[in-house]
Amino acid sequence: MVTVCCTEQPSAHFPYVGRFAPSPSGPLHAGSVVAALASYLDARAHGGSWLVRMEDLDAPRNVHGADEVILQQLQTLGMRWDGEVLYQSRRLDAYQQSYNALLSLNLTYPCGCTRREIADSVLRMQGHFPEGERPYPGTCRSGRPEGRQAHSWRLRVPEGRTSFKDRWMGAMAQEVGQVVGDFVLRRADGIWAYQLAVVVDDAHQGVTHVVRGEDLLSSTARQLVLFNLLGLSPPTYLHVPVVTDEAGQKLSKQNGAAAIDLSDALGVLQRAWLALGFDPLPVADVSQFWAAAIPVWVQGLSRANLHGINRRIYDPR
Ligand code: GLU
Repeated sequence: MVTVCCTEQPSAHFPYVGRFAPSPSGPLHAGSVVAALASYLDARAHGGSWLVRMEDLDAPRNVHGADEVILQQLQTLGMRWDGEVLYQSRRLDAYQQSYNALLSLNLTYPCGCTRREIADSVLRMQGHFPEGERPYPGTCRSGRPEGRQAHSWRLRVPEGRTSFKDRWMGAMAQEVGQVVGDFVLRRADGIWAYQLAVVVDDAHQGVTHVVRGEDLLSSTARQLVLFNLLGLSPPTYLHVPVVTDEAGQKLSKQNGAAAIDLSDALGVLQRAWLALGFDPLPVADVSQFWAAAIPVWVQGLSRANLHGINRRIYDPR
């Protein structure tokens, strides 16, 4: 199977619906603001709507009140969302339904492997692992070993390459079955996996354009496989560079990135703007920032210095 997606006819994707989908595991930091900024700019530059979705399925990681803090941060930065904020924790039935649809097609199976066993069998596998992923070796694909409890539920990934054009990174392709293997749809603790929930919700919300950090680039092919198997229409994708610290580590809540300083909202926006490779904007406040930034984003390819950081060309279409 070859899945070819998806940016060739931009007109097929209007009206534009974009989204920002933070996990409420802490406040926004300098890295997550870059993803929010890029997705907001892209939505407004297209005259589209911009949704916010709280990806709060991973309950052990949620921090009480972080959702409210994030919404307050977005407001202070001048990013106004359209409609109601969608909480994934209220969508469990929808994930179950999509899972059932895959189950009825014999596309899922219970897996009895522990993390430890998977790590050990991967170590025994020969060869190198493209893209740094450690593929699931398929141990339980044709049945669990005798007496084994199910630890997780996996997708039976069809053979074939998944190709798509990222609006920033260009042509991308991944053989999901080889690189990632049969991936988890429902975790051992019963929590629906990000890959399933994000696809079900992007489709449910009618999202046409996903703009997010490059750390999720390698998940995109998995998501396109799911869109395809569920018969849903995929969005286009644009992955922006992630912000790293001086040691080259991605800024993240897990490694203690500081919350943004809301007493200097303009400074936060300007730094995120620079991180995207643009030149500083000569503006005095947040509303001037947006008034100046949106037209620059519209002209991205010709005016902006978006290849400044990673020498990649941004395609504004
Ligand atoms: N919830 C994910 C995160 O905070 C983002 C998911 C997405 O944009 O697809 O990293």
